[in-house]
Amino acid sequence: MAYQISATKLQTYHRCPQAYYFRYELGLKAPGFFGNAALGTALHQTLAKAYRDWDYLKPIPPDTWFNSCWQQYSGNLSPSQVEEGLEILTNYYQQFIAGETPIARPLAVEGKIQGRLVVNELEFKISGRYDRIDYLEDGLELIDYKSSKEVKLLPEEEIDLQIGLYYIALEQKYHSCLQQLSLLYLRTGEKVVLEASSSCQQKVEAVVGEIAWKLRNDELWEAHTGEQCEICSYKRYCAAVEDNPEPLPCNTRASEQIQLALNI
Ligand code: SF4
Repeated sequence: MAYQISATKLQTYHRCPQAYYFRYELGLKAPGFFGNAALGTALHQTLAKAYRDWDYLKPIPPDTWFNSCWQQYSGNLSPSQVEEGLEILTNYYQQFIAGETPIARPLAVEGKIQGRLVVNELEFKISGRYDRIDYLEDGLELIDYKSSKEVKLLPEEEIDLQIGLYYIALEQKYHSCLQQLSLLYLRTGEKVVLEASSSCQQKVEAVVGEIAWKLRNDELWEAHTGEQCEICSYKRYCAAVEDNPEPLPCNTRASEQIQLALNI
């Protein structure tokens, strides 16, 4: 059975292998950060429908098309969220749709990414999600909608791991290279373009190789202390930062089960 990896898993490992161990090997749940998630979800669903169901034989959709899609997903929001969402979509339309002639049909809209990677004779299953994949002249563009109030970028190394993982999976599925990951900040209207290259793929293989080594050899998942400890959900269990760490909950998943699942 293949071991599942995702961009979030690789980024967590890069930040701190011990936090990775707590989260993914022992199965300790991290508290969620939901915030204004309902509005963000409704915006994602609206844009997915607007791109997926538009009749591309016609020229660009009118703004009423986006409004009618919004009606279908905004029913559970508060009146102020409905108003805010509509304003965000109006800005989106002006910035990304109104000037197109015509609007291009995406390769895919809101779906799962899957792929396979074999490192050190262990099979890893790549999994992830995308908001939209567009064609570029010389490859593919992965679009990720962001609903945060300001542009917040992960450290470059973590972004490279995300790009590298998608690079591998998209090449396997579409036999085409990922050229860029574009982050569309819906509230601010900003578009951040991050170039993709095969060097990102090599970074993924290096990190997955480290994980494979640890799984095979039952190695220590070392603690990387730093700024990340301030917001780490597992701080109270971590001997690297706490003099008297709390004992782990007794219902943690035994890592031996994962070793068995890998047949190693
Ligand atoms: S507190 Fe710091 S060192 Fe400990 S698991 Fe979390 S990130 Fe790692």
